[in-house]
Amino acid sequence: MRNLTIFLTIFIFSSYAYGEFSLIKLGVDDNNTVLVTGGIQGDEPGGFMSANLLARKYEIISGSLYVVPNLNMPSILKKSRGVNGDMNRKFDKISDKDPEKDVVEQIKSLVLQPNISMLVNLHDGSGFYRPKYINQMMNPNRWGNIVIIDQSTLDGALYGDLEQNANKVVDRLNSKILDPKHKYHLRNTRTSDGDKEMLKSLSYFAIKNGKSAYANEASKSLPINERVYYHLIAVEEYLKLAGIEFKRDFELTPQGVKKALDEDLSVLVCGKFLFYLPKSRLGYIPLSSDGKLDFDCDNALVALTKTQGIYNIHYGNNIITRFTPEFFEYSNLIDEIGIRIDDDEPKFVKLGQKIVVDSSFMIMPKDGVRANIIGYGTTISDESGIKITKDMIKSRFSMDKKEQIYRVEFYEMCDGKDKFIGMILVEFAK
Ligand SMILES: [Zn+2]
Repeated sequence: MRNLTIFLTIFIFSSYAYGEFSLIKLGVDDNNTVLVTGGIQGDEPGGFMSANLLARKYEIISGSLYVVPNLNMPSILKKSRGVNGDMNRKFDKISDKDPEKDVVEQIKSLVLQPNISMLVNLHDGSGFYRPKYINQMMNPNRWGNIVIIDQSTLDGALYGDLEQNANKVVDRLNSKILDPKHKYHLRNTRTSDGDKEMLKSLSYFAIKNGKSAYANEASKSLPINERVYYHLIAVEEYLKLAGIEFKRDFELTPQGVKKALDEDLSVLVCGKFLFYLPKSRLGYIPLSSDGKLDFDCDNALVALTKTQGIYNIHYGNNIITRFTPEFFEYSNLIDEIGIRIDDDEPKFVKLGQKIVVDSSFMIMPKDGVRANIIGYGTTISDESGIKITKDMIKSRFSMDKKEQIYRVEFYEMCDGKDKFIGMILVEFAK
C-alpha cells in the first residue's frame, strides 16, 4: 500500500523557499513508525539517493515507514554540504533569523510525533573508519562505513538497546561486504559525555527526546551505487528490527541498485509533463502563461531552476536535462484520448502516460482538440486521424538518445492562442 504525502515537491527557480521537504509515508500508519532521513547535508548523494529509492521502489507490506529523502534540498541542488552552514549542527539551538529555522523545526516536530519509534539518518562520510591509524584514508578520524550511535542504551525507549541493535546492523553489513576494505564498524560517539558537535545533531535531538536514533555512513570513496547498496542493507536490517515487512522491486546488489537508479529516472512525471530523461537537452516544452510552472514532480529529488531563459531539471546533485519553454495557457478539456495502436481497435489512453507501439499509431480525432506530433509536420494543424510510423517523424525530435520515444501534445483549439491540455509519449519498440 502506498500513501503519498508530500509537504512540497514543487521547487521552482532560485526562489525555492526554505522549510520545505518531502515526506513520503509508506504502509499503514501505526504507532511503530520508522523515520528514514537523507540529504541533511547536500553533498552526500549516497544517503539521499538511498532514501529516495526506498521511498519509490519499496512497498511496505505490514507496518509503517516514513521517508524524508531531501531534508536540505537547497544544498542538494547546489551540491554543497550546507548553503547556510551545516544543518546537522542546528538541532540544539537555532537562531530565529536562520533561513533553515522552518525546516529544522518541521523535522523536529516530525521526530517528536508519538508514532515515530526510530530514526535512521543516512550520511556519506570520508574514507573508511578504523579504530587504529592505518593510513590517511583509514583511521579513527574517518567517517566512512560506520554505524553511529550516541550512547549504548536509551532507557525506556522502543529499540533502546542501541549498541546491541547497531551491532546487528554492523554484522549484517559485514556479511554482505564487497571488499574487506569496506568493513563496517560501530562508532559510539558517547555524545552526552561532551561531544560538542554531536550534541547539536538531529540524532541527538531524537535521543534527548526519548527516541531511538541511528546513523548510517557510507564511504565517499565508493561509487554511488555501492553507497546505496550498503545504506539499504542497513535500512532493511532496521526495518526487520522494528518488525516492518517490505518488498522491493529490484535486486539488492551493486548492479541491481544501479539499474534501479537508472530506471527510476527513465520517465519523470511532472503534472502535465512527461520527461524521458537520458537525453541531455529537450526542445520546446509548453509552460503555463500565467508565469507559474505546473511542475509538481513525483520524484522528491527533482527540481527546476532557470538560467538565462533556459530551464534546468535537477536530480539531486546533477542537472540532467535542459529545455527552453514556450508559453501557453492550460486547459483541462480532456484527460484521455483515443489512440489506435498498430492497427488495433482504438483505445482510450490517459494523458501523462507512455504508450509502446510496434510500428504505428493514430490519434483519434476529437472535437475542439488539436494533436501535435512533435517532429511530424511543419505547420500548426491537427495531426489526428493520420497513421504515423517512425520514419514519418524527424529523429532529432526524439526524447531519448536511442531515438525511439516521441511526444504528442494536445491543445484546446481557441480563437486566439491554443491552450495546452497535456501530453503522452509514444515509444516505438521495434
Ligand atoms: Zn553527513
